[in-house]
Amino acid sequence: MVTGFTVSTTTAAVRDLRAMTLAEAEAFAQELGWPRFRGEQIWRWVHAKLVRTWDEMTNLPREVRQTLAERATLGQLTIAEVQESRDGTRKLRLLTRDGKSIETVLIPDGDKTTQCISSQVGCAVDCQFCATAKMGLVRNLDAGEIVDQVYLARRLLAEVDPGRRISNLVYMGMGEPLHNYDELVRSLRILGDDKGVGLSMRRITVSTSGMVPRLHRLGKEDVRPNLAVSLNAPNDEIRDQIMPINRKWNIAALLEALRAYPLEQRRRITFEYVLLADVNDSLEHAGQLARLLRGIKCKVNLIPWNPHPEAPYQRPAPHVIDAFQNECKRRGLPTYLRTPRGDDIDAACGQLANRSNGQPVVPLRLRKLPMAPELPAD
Ligand code: SF4
Repeated sequence: MVTGFTVSTTTAAVRDLRAMTLAEAEAFAQELGWPRFRGEQIWRWVHAKLVRTWDEMTNLPREVRQTLAERATLGQLTIAEVQESRDGTRKLRLLTRDGKSIETVLIPDGDKTTQCISSQVGCAVDCQFCATAKMGLVRNLDAGEIVDQVYLARRLLAEVDPGRRISNLVYMGMGEPLHNYDELVRSLRILGDDKGVGLSMRRITVSTSGMVPRLHRLGKEDVRPNLAVSLNAPNDEIRDQIMPINRKWNIAALLEALRAYPLEQRRRITFEYVLLADVNDSLEHAGQLARLLRGIKCKVNLIPWNPHPEAPYQRPAPHVIDAFQNECKRRGLPTYLRTPRGDDIDAACGQLANRSNGQPVVPLRLRKLPMAPELPAD
């Protein structure tokens, strides 16, 4: 967005400031012949003050803004649709500049809000119970598109729910974050930088289906978020069926990588276990799960399957879910039942697939935010 400035037809490379870490922005400023501090100044406008136009960068000389309009972009998303669940969960459908739809979900819990963000358009992993899998992988999101989900949500909450802040961030939306490794890590660096929005890594969780080599790599990074692992089965036989990735990296390889992951004090790995009726929900399965995870600092989140039309599964009956949880607990495995949130707007875990279920909610007040010109038909 370049309001008030002329965009040059120069052939020099145009760089996206929203996808840059602070160090990259400082280097970029120097490439343009400016001092390093100019890079920080610009970066703060984008990643701390969350501005969306050059005009808003009021302490920059006009010629600097003109050069930025020629040599950089503020690559960003627009809001196509906001849906609100009866439980207060909001799902935002966002459009990338090349017209792809992605989704992010805001889940209120008391005075806190957890935001679930996407890392890819679609997903290649093909978990059999997941609606996103049915899209296949369309493309990776770049770091700017990942962080802009957070920035847009902040601005939205400031307008519709002032005082409410995003307290936790989970990479559990569309996509397998470790499949988009470099942009994931770049986005963590941007979001974790104290000179930007400064989110603590303790408040960020990356969820993976178990890309083992990249788990090893993540363990060596200087930014290390919490880990959640989508396990969903107590043995290879079941996991091979419902998560084809298991045929490449089986449960033993996955657990070995997790045991090696350098957890900080008082942190533990979260295992997600989607309960599918008559597939992985018996007492025997609960016993196997408890044995499997013995000795790992962890907890298990049980997620009764959230229905969508493309998968042949059923959610287990409530008494089966209770029995499964009780058996895990009896065997000493900390196990929590996750109440589905936003399932009436297809915003619950495993349901994200750019579907519009019910009336879109786009309050007029949101017109201050960057709205897509029209709702595209998917
Ligand atoms: S559960 Fe996650 S990793 Fe598996 S297909 Fe869905 S989005 Fe991809």
